Amino acid sequence: MSDATEINEPTERLEATQSFLQRAGKMLIGGQWVDSASGKKFKTINPATGDQLAEVAEGDKEDVNRAVAAARGAFENPAWRNMMPTDRERLIRRFIALIEDNIDELSELETLDCGKPIGASRYVDLPLTIDTLYYYAGFSTKLEGDVLPHGCSYTPEDRYFAYTQREPVGVVGMIIPWNFPLLLLSMKLGPALATGCTCVIKPAEDTPLSTLRLAELAQEAGLPDGVINVVPGYGETAGAAIANHPDVDKCAFTGSTEVGKSIVNAASGNLKRLSLELGGKAPNLVLEDADIEAAIAGATMAIYTNQGEICCAGSRLYVHRSIFDQVIEGIVDNASKTKVGPGLNPASEMGPLINQAQLDRVCNYVDGGRSEGAEILVGGGQKSGKGFFYEPTVMVNTKPDMRVVKEEIFGPVLTAMPFDSLDDVIKDANDTIYGLSAGIWTRDVSKAHQVAAQLNAGTVWVNCFHIFDVTQPFGGYKQSGWGREWGRSAVEHYTEVKSVCIKM
Ligand code: NAP
Ligand code: MG
Repeated sequence: MSDATEINEPTERLEATQSFLQRAGKMLIGGQWVDSASGKKFKTINPATGDQLAEVAEGDKEDVNRAVAAARGAFENPAWRNMMPTDRERLIRRFIALIEDNIDELSELETLDCGKPIGASRYVDLPLTIDTLYYYAGFSTKLEGDVLPHGCSYTPEDRYFAYTQREPVGVVGMIIPWNFPLLLLSMKLGPALATGCTCVIKPAEDTPLSTLRLAELAQEAGLPDGVINVVPGYGETAGAAIANHPDVDKCAFTGSTEVGKSIVNAASGNLKRLSLELGGKAPNLVLEDADIEAAIAGATMAIYTNQGEICCAGSRLYVHRSIFDQVIEGIVDNASKTKVGPGLNPASEMGPLINQAQLDRVCNYVDGGRSEGAEILVGGGQKSGKGFFYEPTVMVNTKPDMRVVKEEIFGPVLTAMPFDSLDDVIKDANDTIYGLSAGIWTRDVSKAHQVAAQLNAGTVWVNCFHIFDVTQPFGGYKQSGWGREWGRSAVEHYTEVKSVCIKM
């Protein structure tokens, strides 16, 4: 096992990053960079060191009220509302071009604030963010309605001309978690901007920086004032104020299932539209006939990507008993060779967890599993020294009712279980409150289809894992959420359908 302290955090940072950190203390409301109404600020820290990165304005209910009013004004402003579709598309593309021009700075901010390896920020998060905005920009000019073959049965003598059109849903509150700050925002911002909505964004308290920088770029691109407002702050104050607000038309939330349920309650006040992307506990099934080397590499990546802080992590591994030892040995070997260190150092393959609370949570789960009789083959502890590092961990001898198997740990902890029959493993795989994603490793195409059809999950990967593309709808069954982000259908969540009927 490499020691985190062996890989240091480089002291060099981009000049652009340094300069942004100096001016990150304001929030964007109605085109103005302002202090919070209370004047309060909070610290955002670098999880690789525990050191403060910047002080950020701490928004609460009053700031949310101001931001919602600004978003409402912008929504009704003809400059945005009646913008020619081609102009809207052009404007969003100008915004995207600025993101591309500043990709290194945005990647560095993402890694500094949330810990992930710089290569992941620069070559996964940012390109996917850009692709997402690009894909949806094109919908600005393609929001079509239908002409309906109308015939009213009780007025057969009359003729009607009926059609549908899509209109923007209005002011959208966006509440974002800390694990993929820009990417998860882009999944909401893309369809919102393309359809002519306006928004109030609350980034996670741990990772406000890249969102604030993105908002500067939106302003530079020329998005009208108030189209994008950013209110950093805490979930219980700023987040809850968005979910409760009577003048927010839709809330797009990504986060835990527990908070998702509180958003549902809060949204009932004005029946605001909701999309919810929540937790997961994905089963990853290695069948008897799998390509073993590919399955070992894939299962390793499925759990340790983004330090395991990823909703669709392949955290429950089920391996056919005949190959169990061989597969587990391979994963343990990979885990023990994983270089854990500060994300800014290109040598690091896995970064720190987001904060002390998350580190404590992972420690508690693993210690709990150990005391219930699970065996830890590799890892199982935090790393000494600065920062919130946890070792890549593999647990065996687990039982289906253990908390480590049932609950989302959101850290680099794999539980692995052997299985004998496909029927049994499908039952175990589906024995969860979640249903976000699942994996299957097999060389048998028809078996892959059969098993995929029986897994209750929004995304099923076969002989791959964590393959994401904006064209592919993403979201969960059961308590993993409501609705899908990405893909064509996401646009529907940002529009209302109006049907118009004209007597001819
Ligand atoms: P979280 O605690 O639910 O927080 C998510 C966001 O909600 C943060 O901005 C948070 O603010 C805010 N929030 C907290 N309490 C709130 C409240 N009462 N009302 C309104 N907003 C509130 O989740 P997290 O710990 O940041 O992220 C991890 C979770 O997100 C995991 O369960 C993971 O599976 C899930 N996730 C799901 C997806 C998906 O696509 N399905 C993707 C990524 C993550 P603070 O930052 O101040 O707490
Ligand atoms: Mg941070």
